[in-house]
Amino acid sequence: MFFHGTSRVNEKGHLEIGGVDVVTLAEQYGTPLYIYDVALIRARARAFKETFEKHGVKAQVAYASKAFSTIAIVQLIEEEGLSLDVVSGGELYTALKAGFPPERIHFHGNNKSRSELEMALDCGVGCIVVDNFYELQLLEELSRQRETVTDILLRVTPGIEAHTHDYILTGQEDSKFGFDLNNGQADEALQQAMQSTSLHVLGIHCHIGSQIFETTGFVLAAQKIFQKIADWREEYGFVPQIVNLGGGFGIRYTNEDDPLPAAQYVEQIIAEVKTQVEKFSLPMPEIWIEPGRSLVGDAGTTIYSIGSRKEVPNVRHYVAVDGGMSDNIRPALYEAKYEAVLANRVLDANEEVVSIAGKCCESGDMLIWDLPLPKAEAGDYLAVFCTGAYGYSMANNYNRLPRPAVVFVENGEAQLVVKRETYEDLVRLDVPLKIKVKKG
Ligand SMILES: *Cc1c(COP(=O)(O)O)cnc(C)c1O
Repeated sequence: MFFHGTSRVNEKGHLEIGGVDVVTLAEQYGTPLYIYDVALIRARARAFKETFEKHGVKAQVAYASKAFSTIAIVQLIEEEGLSLDVVSGGELYTALKAGFPPERIHFHGNNKSRSELEMALDCGVGCIVVDNFYELQLLEELSRQRETVTDILLRVTPGIEAHTHDYILTGQEDSKFGFDLNNGQADEALQQAMQSTSLHVLGIHCHIGSQIFETTGFVLAAQKIFQKIADWREEYGFVPQIVNLGGGFGIRYTNEDDPLPAAQYVEQIIAEVKTQVEKFSLPMPEIWIEPGRSLVGDAGTTIYSIGSRKEVPNVRHYVAVDGGMSDNIRPALYEAKYEAVLANRVLDANEEVVSIAGKCCESGDMLIWDLPLPKAEAGDYLAVFCTGAYGYSMANNYNRLPRPAVVFVENGEAQLVVKRETYEDLVRLDVPLKIKVKKG
């Protein structure tokens, strides 16, 4: 059985999460419904944070809120003492509404607008991760106007792309993000930033990919960055207070995925940074990391109601649910794979292999291909696991489907943290036509 965190089967044969029967939740809040296992999010957060503490290394673990940004999750992250990454005015607004301390917010993004940067400076975010020369100039100008000194990290692209099972070393990276470490751009950016009296370079940032299952990519990135830092100390007298190695720690979506425990990623990162620091006789910087998916991904489960079926004789059984690419676009976008069970009949034996179709008007709107299940009928509930990251945050209103509700569960209690959209919500921003259409 494919369970995470507090998920288990109860005496009724129903899926239970956080001590709450998900069939009851589906009946109370409707479907599709996102359910988050709060205890599991806390455990994931603590595993990252406590490993740094255990090794006596100064660190910030910043939750990359793009994975799932709502007021309640931001408050939970605050409760756990983590920092927060935002990549837009909207994510920043959500964080501020949640009461998150601005000094623990880091602002990312490859095209921050003037008004987004103004918003960040006005609320006093902890640092801005500068991505390109345009932003460097804009931020310098805005900081000068305000007569403040803005703390920044410089985002560099080290020429390492980490993928799930391999990594690619490239001299010149073809990426829309950051200053290239190999072609002189990063050197130029550092010089410009150091010359400004309105900017203060706290350190260097890189993010090498997502759903990474090995530590090699992080180790290589650290090596490249420290080699550059050693050069910069010689040339410009620059010594970073912070080295940020980004996020991308993998999770187990299916049994084919084999991620490392958080502690192992962190320990390897600490070990490599220590090696580099000794090699170049540098002071130990603070290490910052930015997990997104690995904090909330496997804590999320989506519950759907099963509706229609279509049999294609000798080819396939299609079983359709009441959501799809509108609440989980990852299968359509990345061919992402998921596991699922019938939430109201978890212990029933599998009798057939079906493919789970969404209800959107796209043939590509398929959630899972070839899933073994008991004979699923209309009214059964399907629970799809590991939908906590980039599910709700990428949800959309295609076909004018209202976005689902979100419920947090912990210790036998459930709390609604995002209401289900209504049809009225869908037309709330629409403005009726004023121009008279001529008839005849
Ligand atoms: C997306 C992103 C993350 C988080 O990635 P996950 O795969 O969700 O851990 C962290 N840092 C940056 C800069 C990102 O763009």
